[in-house]
Amino acid sequence: MFLDANENSLASLAKDGFNRYPDPLQRELKKEISKIKGVHAHHIFLGNGSDEPIDLLFRAFCEPHIDKYIQFAPTYGMYKVCADINGNEGINIPLNADFDIEYKTVAPYLTDDVKLVFICSPNNPTGNTINVEEIEKILNNAKGIVVIDEAYIDFSSHPSYLKQLGKYDNLVVLQTFSKAWGMAALRLGMAFASEQIITVLNSIKYPYNLNQATQDIALEAVKREGEMKDMVKVLNLQKTELTKSLQELPQVSHIYPSDANFVLCKVSDANDIYRYLAENLIIVRNRSKVMLCENCLRITVGTQEENKKLIECLKKY
Ligand SMILES: *Cc1c(COP(=O)(O)O)cnc(C)c1O
Repeated sequence: MFLDANENSLASLAKDGFNRYPDPLQRELKKEISKIKGVHAHHIFLGNGSDEPIDLLFRAFCEPHIDKYIQFAPTYGMYKVCADINGNEGINIPLNADFDIEYKTVAPYLTDDVKLVFICSPNNPTGNTINVEEIEKILNNAKGIVVIDEAYIDFSSHPSYLKQLGKYDNLVVLQTFSKAWGMAALRLGMAFASEQIITVLNSIKYPYNLNQATQDIALEAVKREGEMKDMVKVLNLQKTELTKSLQELPQVSHIYPSDANFVLCKVSDANDIYRYLAENLIIVRNRSKVMLCENCLRITVGTQEENKKLIECLKKY
């Protein structure tokens, strides 16, 4: 008998059980995630997308208007969004010509007031995996926390940093159900870290940050990891085909190698091609204004039919 939380004791108009607040620590779901990731539940934080832990990391570890963070440009936009809201200045270090990190360009910036370093690998919007040796040097020398955002790791043949969790107590690995698992609408992200960091994140999150529907549906989905891997294989094959077809087009000058489910391509006139595709109801991401991405479009791998339509449309450009 639960008479403690002012819920409706009679029933739910949505679904049986939905009249009760969900488990704030998502224990059942964490147990299943723990099995597939090989990480103890004490090292797992679950959030409303991986955007939630990004936001919480700033609020927990970056003193507004005092502390700073590092990111490598071009990269995922959410780090800056959360930093701006929290009042933290960013040090934006450009990637090199291969879109990789070189430790020597980072070293001078690893000062005491840099509390977070964000490394996105495979990187969005470039698609490449960041060099392991350079990441290790950052992990060994950063004064604060190093966050490795592995949103696209399931598409990659490179190993995850999850295996390094025991070695670095300043490491946070982010993963998500939004990409390979096909669950973007449910909003479920993961942060893996030392027990101390996870405890801090849990202490500042909203109590019921993951709703019951997400927990229920994810609990069933996690048991179908094999099907996720099959989909990844299909998408990676489609990516290879799409890359080949794009390369044959005269307006495409370069396709960057991708370990993710999208390709970044350099084209003759990104703004005009973006506009032309949009007129034909095909929406891609124009990254032309982003550092090092002049005239680049980021294209998500679609279904076979969608990819074919895209290529046919571009042929008529
Ligand atoms: C898509 C993406 C995410 C996922 O965000 P969610 O909030 O989990 O949907 C995180 N990081 C990067 C780099 C992404 O591209």
